[in-house]
Amino acid sequence: MTTVKDIIGEMVSPSPEDETLIRTAYDFAKKAHEGHQRYSGEPYFLHPAAVAKQLASMHLDAQTVAAGLLHDAIEDTDTTDEAVAQVFGDEVLFLVRGVTKLGRHKYRGAERHAESLRRLLVATSADIRVLIIKLVDRYHNMTTLEYVPKHKQRRIALETMEIFAPIADRLGMGRLKRELEDLAFPYIDPDAYRHTAEVRKLMGKETEEGLAHAKKTLQRELVRRGLTGFHTEIRMKGLWSLHQKLKRKHDDITQIHDIAALRVIVPKLEDCYPVLGAIHALWKPLPGNFKDYIAFPKPNGYQSLHTTVVTGDAGTVEMQVRTEEMHRHAQFGIASHMTYKTLGKNAPKASFERFSLAWIRGLIPSLLHLSKRDAVVETSPKIAHTEKSNSAFMPPWLSELAEAHTSITGADEFITGLKEDFFSHRVFVFTPMGDVVDLPIRSTPIDFAYAIHSDIGNHMQGAKVNGKLASFDSPLANGDIVEILTRKTVHPTTKWLEYARTTLARRHIRTALMEIDAAVPTEKTRPNTPTATRARPRRTRR
Ligand code: MN
Repeated sequence: MTTVKDIIGEMVSPSPEDETLIRTAYDFAKKAHEGHQRYSGEPYFLHPAAVAKQLASMHLDAQTVAAGLLHDAIEDTDTTDEAVAQVFGDEVLFLVRGVTKLGRHKYRGAERHAESLRRLLVATSADIRVLIIKLVDRYHNMTTLEYVPKHKQRRIALETMEIFAPIADRLGMGRLKRELEDLAFPYIDPDAYRHTAEVRKLMGKETEEGLAHAKKTLQRELVRRGLTGFHTEIRMKGLWSLHQKLKRKHDDITQIHDIAALRVIVPKLEDCYPVLGAIHALWKPLPGNFKDYIAFPKPNGYQSLHTTVVTGDAGTVEMQVRTEEMHRHAQFGIASHMTYKTLGKNAPKASFERFSLAWIRGLIPSLLHLSKRDAVVETSPKIAHTEKSNSAFMPPWLSELAEAHTSITGADEFITGLKEDFFSHRVFVFTPMGDVVDLPIRSTPIDFAYAIHSDIGNHMQGAKVNGKLASFDSPLANGDIVEILTRKTVHPTTKWLEYARTTLARRHIRTALMEIDAAVPTEKTRPNTPTATRARPRRTRR
């Protein structure tokens, strides 16, 4: 059982207040889960305690670690929101609520599941730490998947592989990604898993001695060249990633040179290239295999030098050179930046890609795919598949997210984005039907209307936000439910251009204004035309 000391021990210089917060959360959650058990028969509290410990080991802040302890308390016990807010404050409550799944009775099966994911995305849009807790939660649940009822195992494993591992990858959390994949792999393709494990074991054995020898040779050479303060490690390729590579190389093991890689971790950036020089002086590099991810980081921020060399002892071996800081990022990704209290000054200056929802959209096809599979697995054969049940499994907000073409602009740098929290420059709002629309921050009902359809925008008469009438220029907030009231006789005015924030809305307004201008002479010759039917207010429907 993880003790509170274990958790605090993993934290980076916690303040006395931090320690008190963790101790209180520990006792609170332990009491709340009293009498509950995991599928394994162990006390339930093992799980939140393990999640908290891992969050602490990733050097996340005390609020996040406390939320890790409490993350299942509201969902699974009698604990209320109010109680959590009272003892731990609104910040911790927000994090816990973000991770909490939906009430059991409201949604069922795949529908409930899709709703949970939607909620997760909305909460994540406000605070990326929600997603980090969720990933760690999933990781710990995967370590005990063997105790989960058989019929659920495969679905959970697929979801882990197709949704959570790619999210971890996109956030640069390489270690978590790899662990999630390798934990899911045996439940997805047991035969391939056994085969790949066998291959890795054999190859590992074959190269073990040679690799240890090459490591010694390199260490000696680095010291001879006056390099100090470095350390080396041997990393084995993850099983899932090895499996993917084997498939690409038509199962030809001789084509794979990075089953085992030798890694050199140095204190400073200036040390990286001299180490590379030493490696290439010792062994001939394989032409065309050198990659400088320091000068050209991967989109998720990963940095390292990769080269493949032909050693006498260990055959062809991949070598990786990186700084401590790059190493931390490669393992913990986005989480490694959350620890910097003053982001910007000390944060690595790597030029990261702009934030874009595109990567979440990229996951949507798998979500749809999974939902459909869910339907097959979880629906009893007696229930015929009607159109209605199908649409429940494929909520429209999913396809909407997948189809939307807007991308995040604004913050120029990844780090800036982090500082202000993930996606904080976007808002997610909902139609009365529950479809989600993502818009730039400070968007108004006009932007929303045009995002739905130009026809709705062009005839917008008014808007209701969360059931109350709102002005055209009122900024929308995350989670708002927006209803647009339309009337055929209403047309855009130049004033609307001031209220609109999206280029999409502005473009449509300008086009409509031009058409009205052009139509002026004819309109003057006619009496006011709208017929009774045209004038009837129409409610938006999606
Ligand atoms: Mn949990």
